[in-house]
Amino acid sequence: MALTIYNTLAREKQVFEPIDRTNVRMYVCGPTVYDFAHIGNARPVIVFDVLFRLLRHLYGEKHVTYVRNITDVEDKIIARAAERHVSIRELTEGTAKIYQEDALALGCLKPTIEPRVTDTMAEIVAMIEQLVRNNHAYAAEGHVLFHVPSDPDYGKLSRRPLDEMIAGARVEVAPYKKNPMDFVLWKPSTGEQPGWDSPWGKGRPGWHIECSAMSEKHLGETFDIHAGGIDLIFPHHENEIAQSEGAHHGKPIANYWMHNGFLQVEGEKMSKSLGNFITIRELLAEKKFGGEQWHGLVLRHAMLSTHYRQPIDWTLDRLTRSRTELMDWARLLHDVAPSADLHEDVLAPLSDDLNTPAAYAALHRMAAAARTNQEDRAHFKRALVFLGLYDNQKDADFLVGQSVDAARVEELIAKRGAARKAKDFKEADRIRAELSSMGVAIEDGPGGTTWKVMS
Ligand code: AMP
Ligand code: ZN
Repeated sequence: MALTIYNTLAREKQVFEPIDRTNVRMYVCGPTVYDFAHIGNARPVIVFDVLFRLLRHLYGEKHVTYVRNITDVEDKIIARAAERHVSIRELTEGTAKIYQEDALALGCLKPTIEPRVTDTMAEIVAMIEQLVRNNHAYAAEGHVLFHVPSDPDYGKLSRRPLDEMIAGARVEVAPYKKNPMDFVLWKPSTGEQPGWDSPWGKGRPGWHIECSAMSEKHLGETFDIHAGGIDLIFPHHENEIAQSEGAHHGKPIANYWMHNGFLQVEGEKMSKSLGNFITIRELLAEKKFGGEQWHGLVLRHAMLSTHYRQPIDWTLDRLTRSRTELMDWARLLHDVAPSADLHEDVLAPLSDDLNTPAAYAALHRMAAAARTNQEDRAHFKRALVFLGLYDNQKDADFLVGQSVDAARVEELIAKRGAARKAKDFKEADRIRAELSSMGVAIEDGPGGTTWKVMS
């Protein structure tokens, strides 16, 4: 089955042709570990985990390398550590650990490699030296800057006019810059600031060069897929292209660029700077959303019901509906063994630029069929396991445990019927309220009382 991918670089869907089928390579920009990740940050983690799973399925588990970095050198980290009176290492180690735990709770596989900037310093310095040798960078006042006019292709990913790029990059005017667009590869560190020895004195790297160096170190000069959120297209990914291709004499850094759309709250991007964010931790463990604790797979399910390039509006209603559905599915599949093969109806839409809504339409058809047919149940379970929505027995038990016990519902309905017969309407109303608190709605009809799980 051919995999097609929407390539931001080409602005079109293309058939995916890996450089080496025995080692398909993808890089996703990971977190800057100064604070808890919010659920907007969870979107690329989940979406590109599905891509990782799909590539493993298509090329074999051992033939895919997924690198997701941890940015543990950045000025926000320095500021936050100072604010909290903790060491930088304490802050970054603690935050990275929480991030990794969150990703697992969201049903994501561990990436093959999770490199850190602090372990890549020699490669970063070497790449900057190469850029200087290739006349793409220059040193000035302890800084090294990438000289944007040295790259005639600059802007090919974001395709923005120069004045918009200047505004978008929030260009800092500094006396040592030859051109206002030039961006920092290396900057001097003083006093308390973390610093590493370099030909330009003690200093630290800029954010963009870190990803160029980490991707080269672990995936080579040219790899297959580079991904991240849509906000990274400019300047981050544009600058990664300029650096890597400048260092490697024009060889492309990646053949396909993929970007997920925003998770929004009331039409606005969820972000730390807007203050409209909720962390993954708060959602999963702290009853900070709708006063409830949510299972990570419910968040995953809600996230995947929208195509990754579309914006998602984050609402309590969306999460509640996802939970009802996932609980229902977990109950249906509890004791079912998954089939060996992944059903074409799910694989085909996923291979079409990760069309999860179309895959979900197939899941809904399978769920309906699975109620009566054992073979459909096995296929349905295989599909959910594949998507990471039925991760292990523990999660399923949890979801089933949270879901409605049908026998108990029937028992209460019978009791209510008896109370009504005895004209004990107070007791009948009490039972209706009890069912309602279990998330069950009842309806009295000519054929008796029917019930359904409220969504
Ligand atoms: P940051 O920590 O801001 O660099 O973000 C980490 C990742 O999350 C990047 O790939 C961002 O593009 C992505 N991201 C940040 N905010 C959102 C959002 N509201 N919706 C979707 N992705 C986001
Ligand atoms: Zn990056």
